[in-house]
Amino acid sequence: MTTFMPTYHSYDELADIQLKGLQWTVRHAYDGSPVYRAKLDEAGVNPDAIRSLDDLQSLPFTTAKDLAAGYPFPLLCVPMSKVVRLHASSGTTGKRKVLCYTQKDVDDWTHFFARCYEMAELTREDRVQICVGYGVWTAGAGFQLGCERFGALAVPAGPGNLDMQMEFLQDFQSTVICCTASMGLLLAEEVQRRGMRDKIALKKMIYGSERSSDAMRTRIREGLGLEHMFDIPGMTELYGPGTGLECSAHQGMHYWADYYIVEILDPETLKPVPDGQVGEMVVTTLQKEAVPLIRYRTRDLSAVIPGECGCGRLIPRHDRILGRSDDMFIFRAVNIYPGQIDSVLSNLPGIASEYQVVLQRSADGKDIMTVRVERNAGADNGADARLAATVREELRKKLLVTPDIEIVDYSSLPRSERKTKRVFDNRDE
Ligand code: ZN
Repeated sequence: MTTFMPTYHSYDELADIQLKGLQWTVRHAYDGSPVYRAKLDEAGVNPDAIRSLDDLQSLPFTTAKDLAAGYPFPLLCVPMSKVVRLHASSGTTGKRKVLCYTQKDVDDWTHFFARCYEMAELTREDRVQICVGYGVWTAGAGFQLGCERFGALAVPAGPGNLDMQMEFLQDFQSTVICCTASMGLLLAEEVQRRGMRDKIALKKMIYGSERSSDAMRTRIREGLGLEHMFDIPGMTELYGPGTGLECSAHQGMHYWADYYIVEILDPETLKPVPDGQVGEMVVTTLQKEAVPLIRYRTRDLSAVIPGECGCGRLIPRHDRILGRSDDMFIFRAVNIYPGQIDSVLSNLPGIASEYQVVLQRSADGKDIMTVRVERNAGADNGADARLAATVREELRKKLLVTPDIEIVDYSSLPRSERKTKRVFDNRDE
């Protein structure tokens, strides 16, 4: 069977591929885009002076602002006649981001998306029900093209429409489903409600685009009778979904380092953090023609996972996306991200998923962090002291600072359908 896996055989060989790609990208961006040329000139970078991967550090950053400023076709480095497609993402603020693709960009994306299906150990016999948004969004196009290139059967179901999804699961005997985690949960509940588990053939789910807790994933896995769930990363700026995938060892996400370089930087100092530590993910593409990215600040938080994966593959890994760097706060000189607190709490029994962090400064100038956590629905307050001690210890291990813990009644913290505010910094008042 055709393989879509990387062609290098060692990390040295990968570094050579990355250096060549970096040299090509900087030259291409310099020659192709007045915006990139001005940025590189201002940073004093001569494209011919990129001699090692360490020179990456000398390159200027690119941000969402650069994409907004160039609307509708920002950072374009090829003539429009070479552009064969555009995709857009809904910007959380202001104008949407529009990204152009050449035929090579589309082909590359298709190729490494096929790699995702190979990583998830599909075969050509698999039937892949694709329940993600189609149209101008990158999701549908990516999942579909990759599936066809891989050679499995694509069922382009699109999002929503539970009745139709149920019908397809049963009639087409789909073995793989691609959707968001919340869609997965809806499907799992519906399958249980209708008692359909024995009538469907699902084995795997590829899910992405939002955070999900361990508890939620367990409910989905059990509800649908899945063997594996694979988290898939992706953003429109960087082709779209499919820029990596968990393998069946489930020890982080392998990412396609022959197509882009990942740096994990301290969002305050913009210097690299040690492997394993959380920071902002910054990406540099190696082959992208229409809109190459040079040190693009994704604002997504993650960490490089050091060491070798249980699967033994020579493909580097990063952690799940742990939130946004804009949400970071500094407490006693330690960078803390709500996503870290989230991941600790979602793995602890006895507590609900809602929490609040309150930061205060005492009269003698000491910073105090209080984490409010809800005890589980139906539980009484008898075990609060023990529960608080466990939460405090687990948070201390992860954050390296010791917060105060307040256990509150279930459902007493505010919930909202939109983004819930969880961090209250009262230190400057
Ligand atoms: Zn692996």
